[in-house]
Amino acid sequence: MKACVLSSPAAVDVRPLKYIEVDAPNPNDDEVLVRVHACGVCRTDLHIVEGDLPERIPAVIPGHQIVGEVAALGSNVASVAVGDRVGIAWLRRTCGACRFCRASKENLCERAEFNGWTANGGFAEYVVAPADFVYSLPEGFDDLQAAPLLCAGIIGYRSLRLTGIENWKGARLGIYGFGAAGHVVIQVARARGAEVYVCTRDRERHQALATELGAKWVGDSSETPPVKLYASIVFAPAGELVPPALEALDKGGVLVLGGIHMSPIPSFDYSLLYQERVIRSVANNTRADGREFLAEAAKIPLRTHVEKFRLEDANDALIALKHDAIKGAAVLMI
Ligand SMILES: [Zn+2]
Ligand SMILES: [Zn+2]
Repeated sequence: MKACVLSSPAAVDVRPLKYIEVDAPNPNDDEVLVRVHACGVCRTDLHIVEGDLPERIPAVIPGHQIVGEVAALGSNVASVAVGDRVGIAWLRRTCGACRFCRASKENLCERAEFNGWTANGGFAEYVVAPADFVYSLPEGFDDLQAAPLLCAGIIGYRSLRLTGIENWKGARLGIYGFGAAGHVVIQVARARGAEVYVCTRDRERHQALATELGAKWVGDSSETPPVKLYASIVFAPAGELVPPALEALDKGGVLVLGGIHMSPIPSFDYSLLYQERVIRSVANNTRADGREFLAEAAKIPLRTHVEKFRLEDANDALIALKHDAIKGAAVLMI
């Protein structure tokens, strides 16, 4: 099969993904083989390709927002059938036995595996994944539209939950960085009745999309929203946004950091945190997050804005992502 393989992590501008022929994988007893139709490109893929995250297996195939069709089943799989359309997300497998798994926090599993990092992902014609961790996808989203739901959407949804906001009607939510996750989160938050304030650079693409999607206020990443916010989510991997984002929060507000990697956070005065403001991160997702989000996305119905790339152009998609040149989400069509 054709795949984009990371020979060794390097700055994406030197095109570290190699488009080559490799052996197609075989499913283990509890796995399915999926013919990939579309795979979203996430900032985490960029962090893996550039070595911001440590290398976990050599010559990994990235990609963890996979939409495809089940092509073969392992001998113990009964939950899906050949021909089913499925989605595969970041969380590949958990142990089911550690203290986190037993406490319904499988996102923090001690032995978690991740698609496109600790195992090969979807920048390829075929991928294998444990059957218990694939999602059935709602109708109404074609393959291209569905792909960004699987990480940008699911992690965005978990980030929204971790804001702790319970009464969404009129709640003021901030979003810092308006890429794939931001453009999904604003739609969920607005459907729930929130007012959304967006701080993002790139007037032409990101600010324009935020306005199109009904942001109450849109500003540059250095601007301060005109009102105090109940909670904010930082999707940009930029630690320097944390102090101004804290400053924009109301008393008791929650600042959720939605990324897997962030540049160092500068020191700041305690007064920014005092009055019971909270900073917390988001790590991975549970399968329940995924199922709940996909159901809510279908009900809204949410619409993703996507830019299409060919599999062999995965480096170009990552370069565009790095340079803020994607409006919405980048998706490889395979
Ligand atoms: Zn576990
Ligand atoms: Zn991701």
